[in-house]
Amino acid sequence: MNKKIVYLLFSLSVLLMGCTEQEVKKVDVEMFNAVGDSLGKIKLEEQASGVKLGLDLKGLPPGDHAIHIHEKGECEAPDFKSAGNHFNPEDKDHGLLNQDGHHAGDLPNIIVEDDGKVKTDLVAAEVTMKDDKSSLLTKDGTSIVIDEKTDDGMTQPSGDSGERIACGVVSKNKEPKQKEAQNSKS
Ligand code: ZN
Repeated sequence: MNKKIVYLLFSLSVLLMGCTEQEVKKVDVEMFNAVGDSLGKIKLEEQASGVKLGLDLKGLPPGDHAIHIHEKGECEAPDFKSAGNHFNPEDKDHGLLNQDGHHAGDLPNIIVEDDGKVKTDLVAAEVTMKDDKSSLLTKDGTSIVIDEKTDDGMTQPSGDSGERIACGVVSKNKEPKQKEAQNSKS
């Protein structure tokens, strides 16, 4: 083996190790509407404080809509009630404008353009992708839901934001092998 190949293999292994470590720091969430069409992805990325949500979606009704992180990792169409309530590990009231609030899963409203697209970044400051109670990667997962109307930031329990129109499950991109083995036994 010549030196070049040894160096190449070394670089590759360093690169692979780096990828494995960063695996849970970034998660892609594919969003679906009530009839099962994919609307694109929300890219989650852990920050020093909180998690950034990079939205790149299409096929949504134009206008302003509420978006929240929900407590259950289940998106059963068409009503997406399976996603449960807003993600609320600190047991607070709903609403970014509420002085007794807010849920960790509360987010500012998004604006969908006339062509049905939205491309924007949001930050959920009080959630993580670590192994703690504010983590979006809990055993049963969490989800992201977009609603028909806007969130007024005050009304309990969810800002009077109407029906749920899109949903995507937050889960690790790649399951650890150990977990797969446990699942296949049960
Ligand atoms: Zn809420």
